[in-house]
Amino acid sequence: MKILLINPEHPYHSNDPGLNHVLTQIRPRMVSKLPCLALLAVAALTPPEIEVKYLDENYDAIDFDADFDLIGITLLTPQATRAYEIATQFRVRQKTVVLGGTHVTSMPSEAKKFADTIVIGEAEEVWTGLLNDFKNHRLKDSYRGAWGEMSKVPIPRFELLKDYFSAENSLSIIPLEFSRGCPIDCSFCSVTTQSGAKMRLKKPTQVVDEITYAASLFPNEKLFFKFNDPNPFVNRKAASQILEEIIPLNIKWNSYADISVAQHPDLLKTMKQSGCTVVAIGLESLVTETMMEYSQWKSKYVKDYQEEIKIINDHGIAVVANFILGDQDKLNPVLDQILDFVTSVPILCNFTILTPFPGTRVFEEMSKAHQLKAHLNWEDYNNLNVVFNTEWPEEIIYQGMQYLHQEVWNSPLYQKINSQMKQIISQPPLS
Ligand code: SF4
Repeated sequence: MKILLINPEHPYHSNDPGLNHVLTQIRPRMVSKLPCLALLAVAALTPPEIEVKYLDENYDAIDFDADFDLIGITLLTPQATRAYEIATQFRVRQKTVVLGGTHVTSMPSEAKKFADTIVIGEAEEVWTGLLNDFKNHRLKDSYRGAWGEMSKVPIPRFELLKDYFSAENSLSIIPLEFSRGCPIDCSFCSVTTQSGAKMRLKKPTQVVDEITYAASLFPNEKLFFKFNDPNPFVNRKAASQILEEIIPLNIKWNSYADISVAQHPDLLKTMKQSGCTVVAIGLESLVTETMMEYSQWKSKYVKDYQEEIKIINDHGIAVVANFILGDQDKLNPVLDQILDFVTSVPILCNFTILTPFPGTRVFEEMSKAHQLKAHLNWEDYNNLNVVFNTEWPEEIIYQGMQYLHQEVWNSPLYQKINSQMKQIISQPPLS
C-alpha cells in the first residue's frame, strides 16, 4: 500500500487591494514555512511496511495521477477551500481520500462531503484501525480520536523532510511539540475546544529522543527547532523538567508562550539555558476592555506589557507579538497606541484581523447573530480579511492593517527592532 500525505497551500492574500499590495511588497510571507508536524506524526503511526510520501503544497506541486492508494489531507480552516479541491481531484481519479485536522474536527459534516472518510479529533488512537479498515474494504464514514496520553505519541518521521532540506528551499526547521491543550480558552481560539483545557505532556525522554533523532538524520544541516505547542508553559514544573533534559543537546529553539512567563524567572532561565531564542506571544490588544472580550485571564496582564516584555528580554529571549484588529476597538487611537508601544519595546509585531474560526466562541456568536458574510470561502479566513459584517466601514480595519504594516515593516524601525532582537538573543543565560 502507498499513502500520500498532503499539507495544502496556505493562502496569503487579502481581498482588499490596498492591504494585498502592502503584503506583497513589504511583508514577507511568514505562514507555512514550517513543516507540518501533524502529517509527520500520522506517518509515524503508519506501519513500516506501508510506503508514505509527505508533500507540502507550499513548496511542491501535486501530481494527481501519481500512484497512491490512499490520500491523507490535513487542513486548518484557511486551507479548507484548497483541501476540498485537492480531495475532489483525487476522488475523480477513483482514489480514496481521508481528511483530518482542526477544521475537520470543527466542521465534520461539511468535510465528509469531500472525503471517503474523516478523522475527527486526534489521529493517534484511530489511524491504525482506519488503515486496517481501508485494507479490508470496510472504511467507516468517520473516526473519532480521543484526547490521548502524549506518552503514546511516536517520534515523528522527520526523515520524510529530507527533500525539503535543500538549498533551494533553505528550510531546516524541525517542528516539535511536548504538550497539547490550553486552559485559557480565548474567545477567538479553538485550542481549548479542540485539545482540552487540561494540559497533556510528553515525557522528557520522548522530547530528547525526538531531537536526537532529527539531529542524527541531518548531521550537515544547521537545524532550528520550533515547538508548535499553542501554550507550552502552562504547567511550568513539567515544562521545566523537559527543558532541563534538553540543555545538554545544545540546540536553538523558539515557541509560543503566554505573557505570564514573565512572572517566572526560574522558568525563563531554564528556557534560555535550553536554547530558547524567541517566544511568540499573543498580546492581542493594548485596551483592557477589548482584552476582556478575548480573555478575562489575559486582560489582567495588559497594563504591564512593557515591563513583562523587558523581563523576558533581560533573560536573553526576544519576543514576537501578535495584535488583533477587531471591531470592538475605536481603531484610530488604538493604531497610534500600538505604534507607540512597538517603538518603545524591541518586539517584532504581526497584525491580524479578528477572524471567527469554526470551533471558537467568536464563531458561535457571529453565526447566531448572522454576522458572518455568506459569500466568502474558507480561504478568506486567513486573518487578512474582514469576514464579518461590522457596524462601520470595513475599510477602516483594512486601512489600519496597511498603516501598521507600513509603519513597522517598511521602515528603519524594522531594522532597529531586528538588531535589538539579535542583541537580546546573543546574551548569555543569566546566572
Ligand atoms: S490563544 Fe493561546 S492562550 Fe488563548 S486559548 Fe489559544 S492557545 Fe490558549
